[in-house]
Amino acid sequence: MNTICQSCAMPLQGKQGDMRGSEKEGQPSDTYCLLCYQGGAFTYPNCSYEDILARGREGISQGPGNALQKWFLKATYPMLLKKVDRWK
Ligand SMILES: [Zn+2]
Repeated sequence: MNTICQSCAMPLQGKQGDMRGSEKEGQPSDTYCLLCYQGGAFTYPNCSYEDILARGREGISQGPGNALQKWFLKATYPMLLKKVDRWK
């Protein structure tokens, strides 16, 4: 099982709990998170690497952590995103 979403690099088992998306038959996906993948399809099928990058940075801004932690996450996010299957 992957530990991060292979589309947006978000942890699949995060502080918020189980963030896995769902397959066509409703079983949890071990590849993508619920923001990216529901019912066996991408929620944003035509988005680009840049779109996901912008969404991810927005998510970091609204998420937990102090300013320094957020700055660090945003700085390292592009590198992390380039490692997932969807953007390799
Ligand atoms: Zn995702």
